[in-house]
Formats: sequence, C-alpha cells, structure tokens
Amino acid sequence: MAPIQNVKGMRDHLPADMMLRQYIVNTLTRISESHGFEPLQTPIIEYAETLEGKLGDEEKLIYRFEDHGGRRLALRYDQTVPLARVTAQYAGQLTLPWRRYAYGPSYRGERPARGRYREFYQFDLDIVGSASPLADAEIVAMLCEALTALGFPGFVTLLNHRQIIGGIARVSGLSEEAAGGVYRAIDKFDKIGADGVRAELIKSGVTPAAADQILELVQIDGTADEVLDALAQKLAADERAVAAIANLRAVLNGLMAMGVPAEQYRVAPRLARGLSYYTGVVFEAITPHWPEGSLLGGGRYDDLIGLFAGRNIPTVGLAFGIDRLHDVMIELNLGPRPQTTALAFVTLFGAEQVAESLRLAAELRAAGINTLIALEPGNIGKQFKEADRRGVRFALVLGPDELARGEVVIKDLQRGEQRSLPRAAAISLLAEALSEGK
Ligand code: AMP
Repeated sequence: MAPIQNVKGMRDHLPADMMLRQYIVNTLTRISESHGFEPLQTPIIEYAETLEGKLGDEEKLIYRFEDHGGRRLALRYDQTVPLARVTAQYAGQLTLPWRRYAYGPSYRGERPARGRYREFYQFDLDIVGSASPLADAEIVAMLCEALTALGFPGFVTLLNHRQIIGGIARVSGLSEEAAGGVYRAIDKFDKIGADGVRAELIKSGVTPAAADQILELVQIDGTADEVLDALAQKLAADERAVAAIANLRAVLNGLMAMGVPAEQYRVAPRLARGLSYYTGVVFEAITPHWPEGSLLGGGRYDDLIGLFAGRNIPTVGLAFGIDRLHDVMIELNLGPRPQTTALAFVTLFGAEQVAESLRLAAELRAAGINTLIALEPGNIGKQFKEADRRGVRFALVLGPDELARGEVVIKDLQRGEQRSLPRAAAISLLAEALSEGK
C-alpha cells in the first residue's frame, strides 16, 4: 500500500492554520483593493519555454514534465513570469499602467527547510507599465502598510538599486560581466558575513583591493539620506549610479509623502536580491525577530515583460510569501487565532423543535452571523459541551417553553452566562458581539 504521506516540501494546511492564512490573505486583499489593484488568476501550469531563460541560476529549480500529448510543461516558479506572459498576450485588453494583485501557489524544487517549501503561496502586487518612481514608492508603501496591519513588530524595508551595486562594481574597476558575480556574492552578505563575501569575491577573480573597496561601499550605513549622500560622493564618476541614486531619492520622497513612517525603511547598498530579472529599485523586508531571512522582497524589472511583448514595459512589484508570513506570525504570536469560523451554535432540543431551530439558524445567518447547527436532537448539556469544544462562543436553545414565549435561550460559553431573550433581541445581541469581535 502507498504510504499515507504528503509529498516532501508540500504541506497540508489544517483548519486552524488556514484561518490565520486566510486572515493574512484577506488583509493583503483589502489593502490591494484600497489602492485600486485588480485581481488576476493564471494557471499553475505553463509551457516550460515560457519560464525558461527568465530566471538565471534559479532555473534549475523549475519543476518540468511532459503531458499526455508530449508537450513540455512546467509548474509556475512564481507569478511574475505568468504576469509578463499575460501582459503580452492580452495587450489590447489591458489598460496600462495596470495595477494587479494575484494570490496562489508557486513551485520550486528547493531543499525544504523552515520557511522554505516546494509548494508555497505568494501574494503578488505589481504596477505594470510605469517607470515612475511613484510606482516603486506605492508598492513599498503597501508593503509597509501590510506588515503594519498584520502587526509585525520592528520590521524594516531595506531599499537599494541594481545600478548602485553596478556602480560599486564599476568604480572598483570591474567589468560589466564581472558585476553579476558581485551581485551573487553580496546577496549572501547576511548569511556569510563580510569575510565570507570577501573570500567569494576573490574566488570569482576580483582583486583583494577591489574586494575591500566593494565591501567598504556596500557597508555604508546611516539614515536613508546619509547613505545616499555618501554613495553620491563615492559613485560620482559613474553616470548610471548617479541616476540610480536620484531615482532612489525620488522613491524616498514618495514614501515620505505617502506617510510611511521613516523608521520603516532604510537604504542598504548591500541588498542585491537573488533574481536576475531586476533592473532598478530592489527591496526586502526584515524583522529582528526573524533572523533567518527576509519576510518578502521585490523590485523593478523593466526588461522581463519586453521578452514577451517585444517592447519595453517597465514594471515594479513584490511577492508576499504567505507561508513565511504565517510561520513568523505563529512564532511571534501575532494575529487572531480563531478556533472556528462560527459564532453561534444552534442546539436541537427535540424532534418537534428541529424545524424551528433550522429557521432560527437561517435567521442568524441572514443577520450575518456564522452559525453551526447540531445534527441530532438530545441532551442539551452535551450539545453545549460540543459547541464549547469547537470553540463556538454562543449556544442557542429553542425548547418548548422558549417557543411558547417567542424567546430563545442564549448561553455565552466564554463567560458562562445564560439568559432567555425575545428572538429578535437574541439576534441583535449576537450581531453586537460580532461587530465587537471585528
Ligand atoms: P521571490 O519570488 O524569490 O522573490 O520570493 C518572494 C517571496 O516568496 C519570498 O520573500 C518568500 O517569502 C516567498 N518564498 C520564496 N521561495 C519560497 C519557498 N521556497 N518557500 C516558501 N516561501 C518562499
């Protein structure tokens, strides 16, 4: 017999976990729509060719397979490449700039670890078809808004620009081709430290003197303005870096104008971000309470969609990793932890009261109160226990006496209080408890 076991690196999400995951997704959806973002859903499976040649080193992690018709297919690696395909495929139907959000699973053949899975859910936000620094600022502002709404303590969004790193490599005497190795080495800074990065740079052919200069520049620290001022001075000879610094300043001005608290972002010249398709601003959110890695990240990728569309479509976006947010929220004890989706449990007193009890349950639901109904009439004490065991706060009883009086008994299982109220009053009481709980 086959083992009763889910596939390694892919997870089942039981109800208690799902309720927190849905809370996260609902929060992100609310924030996305408050900024006028529109939903998009694409298939999990793409032609392998669609994904190939877009992901650099990461391409080896793609799950590929052949279907019954011998087509070469792949599970999507992220929701960004499918977005690029969609933008090109439906060019006539989409109004640019297009703000879209998307939620769903992605697949990577990684070595599973805490916070790293082979199937994981991402919630993406992208602004397609705008090169404005206000687009970058809006995405970063939404990231800060989301982490604040979810209650993450002390998070910081680190910001950098690909052409700042490029400039650092160039002023240190490196060729354009060597700059790729510099991104990769610097990307590991938080994992392997300055000495590790130095060793890695030297291994990739960088001279010790150049490696030292690169390390000095990527470690510039201070307020956003201080870091940009220092970089402007050191990279003054590199035109592209100068433009990148001006671009980052415009993004920071946008963040300020959008009211993002200054302590929620910083400029970090050592931030590289792994993916090869980024071209401009890159960012990543971290919290000292989760030293294992970033909560999420994103950036500007102006060339990716052009690979499909045949013309330049500048885009900026980010992907929230729902699994990682969830894991960290569990660890830090953040967010609500409901045990159930129901607020009310309607008991069944006896066979004669079943129909009226079902009607009561329907009235409660019509009033917006999530309601469970017992399935067997019988001992009310037992039914109270069942409601309590399920974590439902209120149990209701319609016995012959209550029915005769037009009332209903309502027991608050959390507080242990019980009273008999006219039916309409009982429904209002629950509606009130519902709005307080929100
Ligand atoms: P990326 O598409 O690599 O920029 O990742 C965006 C976000 O998705 C990351 O910040 C993570 O939160 C999440 N993520 C990426 N890879 C994984 C993975 N293997 N398992 C769980 N979450 C992931």
